[in-house]
Amino acid sequence: MVKFVISAILVWGALAQSVWGNLQVVTSYPYIADLAQQIGKDQISVTALGSGSWDPHFVPPKPSFIAKVRRADLLIINGAENEIGWMPPIIKRANNPQVQPGSRGFLDLSAVVELIDVPNNLSRANGDVHAAGNPHFYLDPHNIPTLVQTITERLCELNRSACPIYQKNQRVFQETWSQRLEVWDAQMRPLKGRKVIQYHKNYDYFFKRYGIHSINTLEPLPGIPPTTKHLVNLIEQAQQEPVHSVLLSVYQSKKAANFVAQKLGTPTIVLPHDVNSLKEVPDIFSLFDTLVQRISQ
Ligand SMILES: [Zn+2]
Repeated sequence: MVKFVISAILVWGALAQSVWGNLQVVTSYPYIADLAQQIGKDQISVTALGSGSWDPHFVPPKPSFIAKVRRADLLIINGAENEIGWMPPIIKRANNPQVQPGSRGFLDLSAVVELIDVPNNLSRANGDVHAAGNPHFYLDPHNIPTLVQTITERLCELNRSACPIYQKNQRVFQETWSQRLEVWDAQMRPLKGRKVIQYHKNYDYFFKRYGIHSINTLEPLPGIPPTTKHLVNLIEQAQQEPVHSVLLSVYQSKKAANFVAQKLGTPTIVLPHDVNSLKEVPDIFSLFDTLVQRISQ
């Protein structure tokens, strides 16, 4: 009897290890999935809910998202309310206690970075989608090491036995990232002081890092589509304060950008905003390679 119990425990333990050995990680966006994959490698299974070419503020929810979150051991979100328009009902319906906000299986990356544009008055009265501050912090490549460190620590908490592997992968990643940062910083140095117009405040962290000045956005407010009145004012502003280019992301309408650029005689440049937003951006490294290369045109 004792033997049977011991062998049953051993069998159960082996099964549990095989199930728990491969953490099921679900992320809101592809860039987070890629960061998790760089650390977890074959020790974790990662799925991103949103697609890299979609508007991150308004991901169309699918029933499959609920099933994925229901099976997750860890849910990692960007946070700073970037997912507020689509994620809360998915978490609620998935009804998975392990990934509820506040639990160890829920990770909000915005908690470990310093946000910019945090308003004093938390009002969404104007339709502002950035009511908690600008949520696009991951587009400063110098923020990536902190995000990777945070993800590694959480993976370690959830799977102690695989922790040494995660930590080794993290060391390799951070070393490679430091080398790439030097290259990107050097490539961006000549652009310091450049003035641009962007569609939405996607690139404010990137601009802040490299001294680029976005004189205005095509949107009158974050999340509010361009209006003729605003674009006319914007063109007048840019005639006084010449800009190098009009920048937009792959999911944003080119119509308003081309209209303004044509009036000003400047190019429009489409930039990646997430992993998989363009075919040449399959991972976090190529995201910044392409962003730096395109903006340097
Ligand atoms: Zn935004």
